[in-house]
Amino acid sequence: MILITSKYLVPKGYSGITLFPFVFMRDKSLAKNPVFVNHERIHLRQQAELLVLPFYLWYITEYFIRRLTYPTQKEAYRNISFEREAYANETDVDYLSQRKPWSFLKHL
Ligand SMILES: [Zn+2]
Repeated sequence: MILITSKYLVPKGYSGITLFPFVFMRDKSLAKNPVFVNHERIHLRQQAELLVLPFYLWYITEYFIRRLTYPTQKEAYRNISFEREAYANETDVDYLSQRKPWSFLKHL
């Protein structure tokens, strides 16, 4: 995990964006936030197990499918399976040590 501070690469309204193996954050204080770091680590694991590029294709495709049923961009984003898994487990610092591969599928 390589943490980089950049408010230009992170979309407005978001704290960070993970582009394996980098995590871009809006504010460098987020590096000390265990919930933020765990959330982005979950995305790094998802990206690694999907060999990175398919992760992004799946993420974007699922976003557009969710957008058909959720009224706002934010809700569509929050309900992408990768985000559901990350938000549901971001406060559990032991989550990744017990996580089985492809666990995001349980959040589809
Ligand atoms: Zn996320």
